[in-house]
Order: sequence, then C-alpha cells, then structure tokens
Amino acid sequence: MLDAVEKRVSIYQPEQEGLIFPELPSFATHAEERKYRKEHLVAATRAFGMHGFDYGFAGHLTVRDPERPELYWTNPMCVHFSQVKVSNLVLADHAGNVVEGTHAINRAGFVLHSAVHEAHPDIVAMCHAHTTYGTAWCATGRPLDMISQDAACFYNNHVVIGASAGAVAVERASGQSVAELFGQNRAALHQNHGLLTASRHSIDDAAFWFIALERCCQVQLLVEASGVKPQTVSEKSALYSREHVGNDFIGWLHFQTLYDQIAATQPDMFE
Ligand SMILES: [Zn+2]
Repeated sequence: MLDAVEKRVSIYQPEQEGLIFPELPSFATHAEERKYRKEHLVAATRAFGMHGFDYGFAGHLTVRDPERPELYWTNPMCVHFSQVKVSNLVLADHAGNVVEGTHAINRAGFVLHSAVHEAHPDIVAMCHAHTTYGTAWCATGRPLDMISQDAACFYNNHVVIGASAGAVAVERASGQSVAELFGQNRAALHQNHGLLTASRHSIDDAAFWFIALERCCQVQLLVEASGVKPQTVSEKSALYSREHVGNDFIGWLHFQTLYDQIAATQPDMFE
C-alpha cells in the first residue's frame, strides 16, 4: 500500500496546483511506515470512541506490520477506544501471542481477525466493533439495499455471513469459516454479531468504511421504520458510485479529516 505518491488517482484530487489537499504518504524505511501505521491505527481507534462504537472491551482494529506482515498491531484489551495511544498498542502473531507490548489482546476478536488476515494476504487492516445499528441490521440476515449513494459504495462489495451466527467467535474454526466467506469483499455483516470491514489499502480506509457501514445500517433501519418503500439506486449508478466515491483511496481520503481533527485535539494519542 501507499508505496508511492500517485497523482490523480481520484476525481477528487485538484488539478490546480498549490492547493492544500491530503497526499498519500511515501516511506523511506519500514520504521517510518510503522510509525505512520501505528499513529493512524490509534486515530482510527479514537475515531471509533468518538462515534460511540465502544461496548465494554469489545471491538478491535488491526493493521499489519510493514516489515513483518505476519504480525499485526492492534488495540489493547480493556482499554477504552478513547485511551488508546501509540505506547499501549500491541503487536501479535497469527496465534494471538503478544510479540510486543504489555497489554493482553481480545482473544475472541483476534481469532476472527487473524483468520481473515491469514486467508487474505492482501488485507492490510481490519475493523470490528459491536455497534448499535450494525448489530441491529445484522439481526436481519440481509445485505444492505442500494438506497443511497453511500450504500452504493458497498454494492457487490459486502457479504452477509451466517456461519457461527450469534456464537462468540473464540474458536479457530469459526474464524476460518468467516475468513472463507469474506472473499474479496470490503465488508461483512456477521449475522447476530456485528460489522467487519477489511482494507487492501490502509487502516484509514478500513476505519472510514466501518463508520460508513454503521451509518448505512442506521439509514436503512430508519427508512424501513418509516414504512415508506424506498427508491433504489440503479445498478449502473451503484457501480459508478462504488468506482468513484467508494474506492480505497476515497476511504483513506475521508479518514484524513478525522485524523487531522483527532491529532490536533488529542495530542496524547502520540504518547
Ligand atoms: Zn465481536
């Protein structure tokens, strides 16, 4: 990911020179990239706190180490999303052993994440939390309907996983079944459990689409509760939206807004 600064990968990038606009970073060393990934993982975790995605100790975010991609940085167990900082992140291996860090990790969560990461070497980051609207929508066992431009960003790019539905996912077998069913999708609605997002790009991308997916679940529940039959987006429009406003770069770009706000107002994140 993010190997080189690419020009104009999106219609949102300004053609006019000299304007302030986020640029994809490039890194001279693994250490530089690790620092970036850890700081952005912390910001993603704090963004989840700001959105009220906490539920006790549930919820976990992971990003691969750039130098040792078989290892993942993750948030410490029983630390509130809002109190995660660079110094309390944990580095763990596939089996859930802590390689670096002093905190324990969430074993149930890690089984799911490590299985998906292991089955999909291209996935660099994942997010999961027990959110109100995501959990509510996941009880329906239905994929999202294409009722908005935002939902269209998930067109043919999310899957409902019924395997191990409602059972706490501490067993490795259940993690593997989720990993197989995840496929090439950006997101999974784990029935009777909650939302999962994955990114082949960055933790920023995984985190933003998680926030977006929770919002899509909320919007669909609101529309259904209204009793009014919604108009749906055509397949052509859904594909266009997914390509232009629903790609990985756009997920990363959306998240820079949150990153900058959190970095400016919560400088203890860098401790
Ligand atoms: Zn969970």
